[in-house]
Amino acid sequence: MSESDPSSDDFDAVVVGAGFAGMYMLHRLQARGLRARVYEAGTSVGGTWYWNRYPGARCDVPSLDYSYSFSEELQQEWQWTERYPSQPEILAYANHVADRFDLRRDIQFETRVVGAQYHEEPARWTVRTDRGDRVTARFLITAAGCLSAPAVPDFKGLESFEGSWYHTGLWPKEGVDFSGKRVAIIGTGSSGIQAMPVIAREADHVCLLQRTANYVTLAHNPALDAEAVAHVKAEYPEYRERARQTRLGISIETPEHSALEVSPEERERIYERRWAVGDANVFVTSFTDIYSNLDANETAAEFVRAKIRSIVNDPVVAELLTPRDHAFGAKRLCISEEYYEAFNRDNVTLVDVKQRPIEEITPTGIRVGDDVCEVDVIVFSTGYDAITGPILNMNIRNSAGLTLNEKWVNGPVTYLGLATKGFPNLLMITGPGSPSVLVNVIAAIEQHVEWISDTIAFMDDNGIATIEPTEQAEQDWGAEVARIGARSFISSFNAWYMGANIPGKPRVVLPYAGGLVKYRRFCQQVVADNYAGFVLSGSSS
Ligand code: FAD
Ligand code: NAP
Repeated sequence: MSESDPSSDDFDAVVVGAGFAGMYMLHRLQARGLRARVYEAGTSVGGTWYWNRYPGARCDVPSLDYSYSFSEELQQEWQWTERYPSQPEILAYANHVADRFDLRRDIQFETRVVGAQYHEEPARWTVRTDRGDRVTARFLITAAGCLSAPAVPDFKGLESFEGSWYHTGLWPKEGVDFSGKRVAIIGTGSSGIQAMPVIAREADHVCLLQRTANYVTLAHNPALDAEAVAHVKAEYPEYRERARQTRLGISIETPEHSALEVSPEERERIYERRWAVGDANVFVTSFTDIYSNLDANETAAEFVRAKIRSIVNDPVVAELLTPRDHAFGAKRLCISEEYYEAFNRDNVTLVDVKQRPIEEITPTGIRVGDDVCEVDVIVFSTGYDAITGPILNMNIRNSAGLTLNEKWVNGPVTYLGLATKGFPNLLMITGPGSPSVLVNVIAAIEQHVEWISDTIAFMDDNGIATIEPTEQAEQDWGAEVARIGARSFISSFNAWYMGANIPGKPRVVLPYAGGLVKYRRFCQQVVADNYAGFVLSGSSS
């Protein structure tokens, strides 16, 4: 397969996206001597960490876990400086990886894939870009990210706004000067919660518009202790293996007790001790059943509510910040060292836009009911068309002309989140129906990339041209994703996990909520059973 004419525009694989998924996929393809082309809309690598340069942006998975495990040399040489790496540090890491593994030679930047169509004869994808490229490839591999299609709500009057506005996921490289500015931040998901305290330190005034209050757990972010890092690095492969055996893909002790089998005093002591560690992952693994039993879940929720009351001076503001309409973890948990404290500042105002929604954006501000927040800058931390958005934006068609958007009109239909029937050799990294955003995403990416590259190797070794799932396999997997989703709390609330933040988007559980260990076993079993649920056909010669 690698013997195709190197001067032609026919590739073994086209990969869409040069974040952590696309970079590792490319590395594996290069290592097999395959001809690959990566298209990336940005000017450089890093994906999420290239686009999200907003103040306060950082990861909430510890750096020693939120990093590639595939190269011992890489993980030994790279020096993280903080427990939770900041956006600039993660971006520097991504650039280091790109240089170290000589990835850039096969990446075309500032190029967006705008169309892809499969042709049965020859079994090839034709891929089109916004720069006029038209290339063919045997495999089309999406590494387009789950959170790379920013969503700005269709607010009346936005075009009339005379100040400047930004989405957290499209932050300007040169940064934004907030000094002396009155700023509105719309949205209290992870991005808004991270950005607000940092912007408030610089701006004249911040108006935070909140529709749904979130649970925010304490996250201290100490500089990494050199001795502790050396300890991990001395046995990094074992550390990674422990992470692989966890639900979240993070090297963390798994709990042993139910929250309901200890006395209330003991439970409080355990929560308090784990809260003080300042690591959300430690806090959420206090007990076995926080995410599986509503009564147990309520004990964690109530603990956080009490923390809010104890930190926020104004009881009215504290009550507004208190989540009461969803279970702990039904929406993505947020972490911060300073979020609740920031409401004790004189220059921060919390505006409830649940009772009275945002009516319109005026030339000078945001109108909520009869009140107008007069501002110079608006920050939209309003989220993403998550998980399916980046894939569906590519206008993917099969050989019969059916678009993926048409096939997924009632929600995504996939086998293992990796493939979908009728679209041969389309393989998706962290696609819908896989653990993706519910776990350490780099761990999920590595597992998918390795599964895909091993599968391509298997196909080549056995002269197989195409792979696609059976209808039965994707129906069964869809039922499993829905069943596990219904048992978790994510289906109990209208969050982006359910597609509920985008008008008209089907409401279905988008990620697989059974955890990484269980999911990996499914994928391994499929291979052990000779790619059960897939149809492998044709000759690749
Ligand atoms: P991305 O990093 O999103 O990269 C996809 C790339 O594809 C982008 O660069 C995009 O420009 C490109 N692309 C998309 N469509 C096209 C197209 N049609 N043509 C060309 N290029 C295209 N995960 C965690 O596990 N822990 C965290 O703490 C965490 N924090 C996060 C914080 C923020 C602010 C956000 C937004 C996400 C966070 N995530 C976190 C999730 C994060 O997205 C993943 O961890 C990871 O970076 C995803 O890598 P990726 O390569 O799959 O996708
Ligand atoms: P998000 O979680 O989807 O939050 C969007 C926010 O905007 C919500 O508070 C939402 O309110 C609000 N909103 C949307 N439309 C609105 C409208 N019309 N009026 C008023 N409010 C509106 O988006 P995000 O904060 O960017 O986070 C997305 C994901 O990225 C996270 O869940 C996480 O996976 C990842 N992330 C992680 C980190 C981290 O700490 N590591 C940081 C940033 C992002 P409702 O809740 O009421 O819909």
